[in-house]
Amino acid sequence: LFITLEGPDGSGKSTQIRRLAERLGSLGIQVHTTREPGGTPISDQIRAMLLDPENSSMVAKTEMLLYAASRAQHVAEVIRPNLAAGRVILCDRYIDASLAYQATGLGIPLEQVRQINEHATDGLWPTRTYLIDVPSELGLQRAASGRGKQLDRIEQRDLDYHRRVREQFLQIASQESERIVVIDGTQSIDAVTEAIWQDIRQFL
Ligand code: C5P
Repeated sequence: LFITLEGPDGSGKSTQIRRLAERLGSLGIQVHTTREPGGTPISDQIRAMLLDPENSSMVAKTEMLLYAASRAQHVAEVIRPNLAAGRVILCDRYIDASLAYQATGLGIPLEQVRQINEHATDGLWPTRTYLIDVPSELGLQRAASGRGKQLDRIEQRDLDYHRRVREQFLQIASQESERIVVIDGTQSIDAVTEAIWQDIRQFL
């Protein structure tokens, strides 16, 4: 079972993944949690390049291809082997993030980003995706304050960029409503966990 969580920055994905992993684990289900960009040593090196605020001259195509490259490694080295071993994969971001952040966000045609990612992953799509939706202002506020850290290269982009990303996430979700479930991320942390749990149960 391959599950991904998506959503704008500050939507609370990583907190939810931690909670879901605990809950699944307490039922004796074997879980592997991972995240993008990253998840393998090579992918983590690519992540560092992508998020370094000093890399401000990176062009859109480089960014899009680096995300796809990081993902190719992650799928081959982590996701496929863990799925083959029968584990549930909980992955923080995946292809939908590239369709939102790199395609719509940076103005690269959506179909190109989709094709490159199909190539990178040999067409591996999640069984279920939870899109935790929050207004861009709230997400950026949380990202800036909650984690007590400097904003990364992508988070530093203007509000308009983040609004386009959010809209695109919602549009993909409406086009792929069989796979993607939208969860209201302005609710309490418990309520978000509960909403995901009610849905995920059918796959267990
Ligand atoms: O999810 P997380 O906060 O770890 O993502 C790290 C950064 O990478 C965030 O700023 C996120 O917006 C960005 N990102 C991106 N395109 C992706 C995946 C993540 O710009 N495909």
